[in-house]
Parts: sequence; C-alpha cells; structure tokens
Amino acid sequence: MDVPLDFDRRRRADIVFPRARLVVFVDGCFWHGCPEHYTIPAAHAEFWADKRTRNLNRDADTTARLEADGWHVMRFWEHQSPSEVTDLIAEAYGRLRASRSSVEKPSPRSHDSAGSLAMADLKEGSPRR
Ligand SMILES: [Zn+2]
Repeated sequence: MDVPLDFDRRRRADIVFPRARLVVFVDGCFWHGCPEHYTIPAAHAEFWADKRTRNLNRDADTTARLEADGWHVMRFWEHQSPSEVTDLIAEAYGRLRASRSSVEKPSPRSHDSAGSLAMADLKEGSPRR
C-alpha cells in the first residue's frame, strides 16, 4: 500500500494501521541510503550524495512529524526478510493495540477521529512482498 501522509501528500507510508496508530515504512536500499547496500555511483557522485542526504533528512522529518502526532513509526529496509518484518510489525501491532485498549473506552470509532492524518478509512493491509 502507498498511503499519502496528511501533512505532505507527496510523502507516502507503506502500511498504516489506524487503530494501533502504527505507520510502517519500507525504505529502498538505494534511495534511502541503506548502510549495507548503498554506494555512491561513480558518475555524478556529488549529485547522488546530495540526493541521499536530502532523502535521509526527509525521512527523519517524516518520522518526527508522525511521532509528534502520536503515531508509532517503524522503518525497515527493503533487504530485510518479509517474515522478519511481518513478525516485528505483528508484535508491535499487538502491543500497541493492547496498550491503547487499556486506556480507551471500547468504542470502535474512538480513535479514528484523533490526529490529523486522514488514514482512518483505509483498510489495514499486509505488507507487500
Ligand atoms: Zn540494504
């Protein structure tokens, strides 16, 4: 899933779980500068290094804005195994749902109105492979 973020529609999350207020990003090794796989192309090295820096800064800014708005943000690299990623997401989802339901009334719409992200109507999905 590609879900546009409310504060900047050009930025997208990969998976959003509105009821757990959990946002998941799966970052590409090249564009987001994965420490294991990123290498600066020899041609136009300065351009690519600058591009990577801007992407990293934007990622950090996206995370900070979401967290300020009460979201739990998880980031993975595209090289991580899908089973590892889904296990970690499932674990976090269960923990967040448990902690939220213990402090909120069991109204199914109660937290859909919270926050500024217009993601509440989206279905919760599974990670793409
Ligand atoms: Zn990588």
